[in-house]
Amino acid sequence: MTDNANLNESEYRNMPASIWEAVMNHGFEFVFSVNVTTGLMHFFHACTSRALVDYSSFDPFGDSPSYGDFCDMLLERTVDEEREPFHDQMKLAYVRREIADRGDFVRTVHFLADGERKSMSIRLFPDESNPGSLTGIMFDVSAFLDHDWMTDEYARIGFVRKVQDFLKEKPEDRHVSLVYTNVKGFKAINDLFGEQSGDMVIFHTRDVLREVLAPIFIGRPEGDHFILLVDDDSLTDENFDVLGAQTYSEGDRQYDFSIRAGIYHVTGSDVPIRKMIDRARLAEKTLSETSVRTYMIYDDKVRTRYINRQKYSSEMSSALESNEFKAYFQPVVNTADHSIASVEALIRWQHKDIGMISPGEFIPAFESSGQISALDRFMIDSVIGLNTRRKGVGSPPIKCAVNLSRIDFYNNSLMDHLVSVYEKDHSATDWLRVEVTESAYADLENNASDYLEKLKSLGVKILLDDFGSGMSSLSTLENFDFDIVKLDMGFIRKIGIIDKAGMIIRSTIDLSHALGAKVTAEGVETKEQLDFLSEAGCDYIQGYYFYKPVSEDELEEILDRG
Ligand code: C2E
Ligand code: CA
Ligand code: CA
Repeated sequence: MTDNANLNESEYRNMPASIWEAVMNHGFEFVFSVNVTTGLMHFFHACTSRALVDYSSFDPFGDSPSYGDFCDMLLERTVDEEREPFHDQMKLAYVRREIADRGDFVRTVHFLADGERKSMSIRLFPDESNPGSLTGIMFDVSAFLDHDWMTDEYARIGFVRKVQDFLKEKPEDRHVSLVYTNVKGFKAINDLFGEQSGDMVIFHTRDVLREVLAPIFIGRPEGDHFILLVDDDSLTDENFDVLGAQTYSEGDRQYDFSIRAGIYHVTGSDVPIRKMIDRARLAEKTLSETSVRTYMIYDDKVRTRYINRQKYSSEMSSALESNEFKAYFQPVVNTADHSIASVEALIRWQHKDIGMISPGEFIPAFESSGQISALDRFMIDSVIGLNTRRKGVGSPPIKCAVNLSRIDFYNNSLMDHLVSVYEKDHSATDWLRVEVTESAYADLENNASDYLEKLKSLGVKILLDDFGSGMSSLSTLENFDFDIVKLDMGFIRKIGIIDKAGMIIRSTIDLSHALGAKVTAEGVETKEQLDFLSEAGCDYIQGYYFYKPVSEDELEEILDRG
């Protein structure tokens, strides 16, 4: 026995059980050897948070501890779900086979100690100096697993544990929620500025979340996502507005991004924490690509919407084949004489079981799955079909705008198809136009915006859709030569209700004109709105006041009537 300042040999002999207990419950660090033929063990070192013990000539099992006894001790503490596989895999024969195959044997098992779950790493490998022996190392890795290596906030496991303990003690009248966040535009930042900047954005996000939401706990389960437990008092619109408007700058380059959140209100303790996190995540995911909202609260609607989305995505291609999708058309009139100037193509889904589904329901699903491009191609082809038929009977083509999603600009096959339509028939620029929303335009990266430039150079009319719906900035108008600016419905609704709205509409119309663009007002429903817009110099009007979206047949009827 080597020196030990604190314990003499007889003291060891007298308290093996308590030391063993301490090792098992507080530190779990062992270095040992196992004789592969006899299974006899020798402990060199065991470290606990209470005592550093040198076992060089002592062991807790008497003079000849065996590997089998040791495993039984471990198994006694192993969590139920891991006990059986651990029992099978810790057998010496199994361990030796794995070492022969792979060089070593490594497992992380979970123990219950003092009511706490601990993560133990066990590693066995050949003893170089003694071919008949294996060397073993066992240590507590709970602290590593509990924390995220990068931010040192909790990792998922650590977060779950903390929240679990917290909720057990929480007074009934303290209302808390689980928040799952996502950095919208994170990929773009990584692509644009490089990964290191991406990391800085993660730190920035963490700091902002800490400051704004004052979380009780915060963790980083993965990538650009954080999970937080917060008091409901911090869930204010103002706070989410702050999170939604973040700027990352590096040198003279700037990038605006938003931190979006899904929220799960903790109502009882019957839902497992992991589920709560999943639900908050789901809520965040249902915020659509183009949505200007920055948070979503989990409720039954979110759940249904999510289930529907998956259903819609799985049914899309067969629905397309069986003609359940239809192009509808909404006429746009000249403000001056109310004659039809053009139309906008809007998709409709006549679902075989559900009936008519509005695009607001299924487009977000298809945007996240990428399937939107197949639909947009269908819409482009529908417009071409319509005008080809009209040409056949000697009618003039109808000027028609199709909606393009941001995703479409990343779909080379769709973009090449569209470009080829104009290259094959140059007159198509007279009647086939494209609408791009402002948020989609703002998000386009290099290659994608090349397509927009290409279309522009071919003479295609480009419409800026939903202007004024979100983060609108007049610089969008200056950055690209849009042919027509479409004022968002939300704007038009405020006419006569909010004084400022009128002023903003007037100056947007004036600025657009100064830049050489025409202006369409969307969602015009009342005479008052029409009068205001006409007086403000708006060029075109789209809205139920004149026409709702109609089928192709109805459209032709309207056109025939003149
Ligand atoms: P959007 O491009 O802003 O289309 C205008 C929406 O406003 C249409 O809704 C139209 O029916 C509706 N609308 C027009 N006038 C009025 C009015 O006076 N009052 C009210 N309350 N609503 C009016 P819809 O057809 O439900 O389409 C919703 C959105 O779905 C569209 O917004 C567009 O972003 C998207 N969408 C529709 N069809 C397509 C498509 O073929 N491809 C893509 N990518 N998106 C599409
Ligand atoms: Ca549109
Ligand atoms: Ca619009």
